[in-house]
Amino acid sequence: MINIKGLTKTFDKNEVLKGIDLTINQGEVVVVIGPSGSGKSTFLRCLNLLEEPTSGDIEFEGVNLVDKKTDINQLRQKMGMVFQSFNLFPHKTVLDNLTISPIKVKGESPESANKKALKLLDRVGLKDKANSFPSQLSGGQQQRVAIARALAMNPDVMLFDEPTSALDPEMVGEVLAVMKDLAKEGMTMVVVTHEMGFAKEVADRVIFMADGFIAEEGTPDELFNHPKNPRTQDFLSKVL
Ligand code: ADP
Ligand code: MG
Repeated sequence: MINIKGLTKTFDKNEVLKGIDLTINQGEVVVVIGPSGSGKSTFLRCLNLLEEPTSGDIEFEGVNLVDKKTDINQLRQKMGMVFQSFNLFPHKTVLDNLTISPIKVKGESPESANKKALKLLDRVGLKDKANSFPSQLSGGQQQRVAIARALAMNPDVMLFDEPTSALDPEMVGEVLAVMKDLAKEGMTMVVVTHEMGFAKEVADRVIFMADGFIAEEGTPDELFNHPKNPRTQDFLSKVL
């Protein structure tokens, strides 16, 4: 589904991504781990062109994203993104947060957008909050709304950048549970996280990033139980 070749990204003279090669298959859950500053967010942001790659190719569903002729807005509809900060529209109700893009960007009728939004809210356990405003919700609830909002666009892949890092500990589980369900249903997912338990349980493949490279990748068992690279070993000894 996504084929990344020789991806680099330089800010001024700071080379943050130094040549990433990665193929992500349909239905696969890829978890990206690594120290702070290793380029994980930049990598995700390059995938949906929130950052413009400096060099390399990213092919998504057969289209080269780096090609200037690619319609970025159409591409972004196919890639849902969930950030550490929930970024909900504060002056819109939960329901409106979910329907605004399907109506305005995709031209869905308000009736069908509402119906779908209520289904999605039910799926993330928040149907009773449809008419609440984001400020009336807990962080965990807001993040579940953010996930539902991304799903309302019917994306083919979901990108998560540390979706639970800003949450109080007691709310992490409810967000991870929603993500687990999504994975079970076959959604293609790229997840940057420090939740090693989630990585072990849900990932098909774990990528360890260090200094703008993929230092090591493998199944959760390979990476967590038999890491080969000393940098992976060192990182894991600090976080496990
Ligand atoms: P991670 O998500 O792994 O913590 P990031 O991708 O956020 O790492 O950052 C990697 C490096 O890129 C850092 O040194 C950071 O300062 C730099 N960086 C990220 N975004 C920008 C930007 N927009 N402009 C300049 N430097 C940036
Ligand atoms: Mg980051």
